[in-house]
Amino acid sequence: MAGVAFDAGPFWDPDADWVSDEAGSHTLYWTDPRVISGSSPVPLGSNNSGRGVGGSMVHFAGYAPRFHPSDFRTASVDGVGADWPLDYAELRPYYERIEAELPVAGEHWPWGDPHGYPHRPHPVGGNGEVMQRGGLAAGIDVRVGPVAIPNGRFGHRPHCIYRGFCLQGCKVNAKASPLITHLPDALAHGAEVRADSMVTRIGYDERTGLATGVHYVRDGVERFQRAALVAIAGYSIETPRLLLNSTSPRFPDGLLNDHDLVGRYVMVQGAPQTAGRFSEEIRMWKAPPPEVSTEQFYETDPSKPYQRGFSVQTVSPLPITWAEHVAAQGHWGADLRRYMSDYPHWAVLGSLCEFLPLPGNRVTLASMTDRFGMPVADFHYDQCDNDRQLLAAAQEVMERILEGAGATETMTIQRFAHLVGGARMGATERDGVVDRDGRSFAVRNLMISDGSILPTQGSANPALTIMALAARQAERLLHP
Ligand SMILES: Cc1cc2nc3c(=O)[nH]c(=O)nc-3n(C[C@H](O)[C@H](O)[C@H](O)COP(=O)(O)OP(=O)(O)OC[C@H]3O[C@@H](n4cnc5c(N)ncnc54)[C@H](O)[C@@H]3O)c2cc1C
Ligand code: SF4
Repeated sequence: MAGVAFDAGPFWDPDADWVSDEAGSHTLYWTDPRVISGSSPVPLGSNNSGRGVGGSMVHFAGYAPRFHPSDFRTASVDGVGADWPLDYAELRPYYERIEAELPVAGEHWPWGDPHGYPHRPHPVGGNGEVMQRGGLAAGIDVRVGPVAIPNGRFGHRPHCIYRGFCLQGCKVNAKASPLITHLPDALAHGAEVRADSMVTRIGYDERTGLATGVHYVRDGVERFQRAALVAIAGYSIETPRLLLNSTSPRFPDGLLNDHDLVGRYVMVQGAPQTAGRFSEEIRMWKAPPPEVSTEQFYETDPSKPYQRGFSVQTVSPLPITWAEHVAAQGHWGADLRRYMSDYPHWAVLGSLCEFLPLPGNRVTLASMTDRFGMPVADFHYDQCDNDRQLLAAAQEVMERILEGAGATETMTIQRFAHLVGGARMGATERDGVVDRDGRSFAVRNLMISDGSILPTQGSANPALTIMALAARQAERLLHP
């Protein structure tokens, strides 16, 4: 049976399409209109979406940590969040497999389920050295990695040249993403990728109760592709939007939405970034942004008033992103120029705080439509008290590390990263849209294979977990 994959965006050619320039990389992002609402609206676009074959990993930072065993049962252990319908031990072999396939480089990892990595850690640049020095001074354990960048040549892929453009698409193909790690194999084995094809609805047969294929628009023409099995992987905004737009007499409120779960429990990680100024030049741009991190604050600490935790990582913004950081503090005009010319002296750390899954944080359909005639997504987000306490605690730790390393001035901006949830998996149809294998409860030949199925998000970056879940789903399809 042949497989066809659809992507709304282009089939990228890294050599021809990508540039070593922040502003010139804007085409990588999903910039179609969306409505954002709620008391803490989450900006979308560059930081929270990808568009094109390979998905958001084409311009992801490259951090590839695993989730901790506790992430799979936060409701039982911490009394917040949700328990997953599978546990860490069931995902471990797929973590190991994907870490070998990307491959991932890093020091031995002492947190969660302690483990090593297939490649040794990369040498670190100025920002990484700041985090190592500051961690030592503040009594915080930090490690190099884990990053999805091979340490050395790997197959046809060259060595990382440490130019720091991971978030703009790695032009030399050192950083992993499905575009270069898995799609070439799939194509060689007969799969077809139909790029520039926007899927607008999933077909459904009332008589059989099965999905029939996908309706999509290519070159302005609406077409239909029949399929024996459909797997959706559009990310946490577009997957719920597609399901909600696929109505029928059997599913008047959207496909798979019998229990009003589609679009709910979308999560972002609170991702504040703290910058520190040093008298010597740090030159944080001269390395991959992800270098050094700590998960010492990942788990619930009974001495704290909040549940769950956060991680801290180096982030190293390039100049335009640095200007946004500085301008967000109200520095403008001559003051902004001064901070910009001082750029080589700054180091920046970022935190990922585990915001809790809340039913009201959801995607619905707005009244406005896009160029395909599809209702635009409305993404509503509110923070809870626990979320806000984590943000404050993470900022305090980042300041401690930077000051321990000798920073003379610090400044913090609030940001959000990494959408997950929106079509969560559950043990039963009352608590999940799909089951532990990604199969929907309501339509048995319809699967969801992206980050929208995550019931909780931990404070680790999610891509490795999303890939491990997809690898497990594929194996369950082959060997039910
Ligand atoms: C700037 C940035 C940095 C990040 N850094 C990290 C990091 O360091 N580590 C980490 O673990 N994670 C990181 N992430 C997050 C990570 O990239 C995502 O969690 C992951 O790629 C999500 O996978 P997904 O399959 O859910 O969706 P995606 O990878 O976003 O794939 C969705 C794809 O579906 C396509 N699509 C959507 N709707 C339709 C439709 N209707 N029809 C056709 N095609 C459609 C899109 O074009 C896109 O290609 C980062 C993300 C961003 C944006
Ligand atoms: S720093 Fe390395 S992995 Fe990142 S974009 Fe440059 S070459 Fe690619």
